[in-house]
Amino acid sequence: MDTVFDSLLLAQAMADVGAATHASQAALSAWQHQRLGAVLAHARRASALYRERLQGVDAATGAPCPHFDLLARMAPVTRGELMARFDEWVTDPGLTLEGLTAFLADTAHIGAVYQNKYLVWESSGTGGSPGVFVQDARCMAVYDALETLRQPLGTPWQRLVDPMGLTQRLALVGATQGHFASLVSFERLRAVQPWRAGGVASCSILQPTAALVAELHAFAPNVLATYPTAAVMLAEEARQGRFRPQLREVLTGGETLTPAMRLHIETHLHAPVRHSYGSSEFLPMGWECPHGHMHLNTDWLLLEPVDEHHRPVPPGQASASVLLTSLVNTVQPLIRYEMGDHVTFSTEGCACGSPFPVVSVLGRRDDVLRLRGGDGTVPLLPLAVSTVLEEQAGLFDFQVRQRNDHTLVLCLPGRGEAAAQALARGCAALAAFATAQGARDTQVKGELGHTTPRGHSGKCCRIMPLAH
Ligand SMILES: [Zn+2]
Repeated sequence: MDTVFDSLLLAQAMADVGAATHASQAALSAWQHQRLGAVLAHARRASALYRERLQGVDAATGAPCPHFDLLARMAPVTRGELMARFDEWVTDPGLTLEGLTAFLADTAHIGAVYQNKYLVWESSGTGGSPGVFVQDARCMAVYDALETLRQPLGTPWQRLVDPMGLTQRLALVGATQGHFASLVSFERLRAVQPWRAGGVASCSILQPTAALVAELHAFAPNVLATYPTAAVMLAEEARQGRFRPQLREVLTGGETLTPAMRLHIETHLHAPVRHSYGSSEFLPMGWECPHGHMHLNTDWLLLEPVDEHHRPVPPGQASASVLLTSLVNTVQPLIRYEMGDHVTFSTEGCACGSPFPVVSVLGRRDDVLRLRGGDGTVPLLPLAVSTVLEEQAGLFDFQVRQRNDHTLVLCLPGRGEAAAQALARGCAALAAFATAQGARDTQVKGELGHTTPRGHSGKCCRIMPLAH
């Protein structure tokens, strides 16, 4: 097998995803119930870890939905726990962490098929210990169907005249080394659609900006797929007249996108931004509808917003974390898997008519700054900190480092008078925001001449709490 692809499974998944796209809430609930039942039964049967976890956990007699009732009673799992007991977690005894680690050690294997049936990637490790994730052909078929039918590329007219994407020139700007989900999926796309091989390119975000821009000019993409911070950086290059793209669309994901970032990208790259919500654990978790709302693919996943004690959080309130249950991955079941994302579920439906819930993704729990307050600590959410610096100080390329419980350091690239003025604006905005949130005696120091660091995956580290 050249890649993890099965046309019959894709046809089935396309039919399932297509049927759910305009389904009633009752039909959606019925699918969730049925798929959750199958996932729980399989995990109980084939995963020693989940068998142990589910032992003695039973649905209440007469519960309206026994599968959901059982789910609510099962203690959540963490990535650290699953990775520590990897061989008991997976349901295929042929899969071992030792074998997968050896496979992943070689970058020549990026996008290659493992054991003739699996696609493998690693998480970027920004949220604690790195994870290893294994997908079979059925899992990939559902991801493909969700990507194709829920977040179609281009305008309806472009899809009509070019359903196979033959006129699309897609540049992925991200990590080009490492088994990351985006790059593995990209390499798979090349293998599944060889006729598009000349129309896709992956460019490293970790190279100097001038070299990246030269590479993009040479390839001349009409669709750019990248992290929001990288799109902002390229928008700034365009604003300065150094980057002259001809784009139809900018696809962003992997990091939080703020309204100010979107405006900056759309203004200077002259193309609409389509943002998506995904993770190494579940690639297409959510997509953005034409009304600009992020809808969750709850026909194939469940996402429970919870507080720090794993109690449910109602719609309209920001969660401290979320518990993901994948209704598709049976090789490596993810049931009540703690993801650490802050999300708020909307209390209302969307005018687009989609039955799928709307969420706002506010950032990661690990990126929260915790400052000393009058009585206890005051949390500053990464989305709020970024928004303050973007909207009040006009800064996009920055890093905020926490030094202790009352000191933040704002680091900016560049030197000179303009940079010093920008730094002063940023420090003042950040200090005022921290005080308004209830932080006491916060000091904000400024430093120039720092290039904002990116991790191996190319993701930007804009906020650095104390733990890092
Ligand atoms: Zn909508």
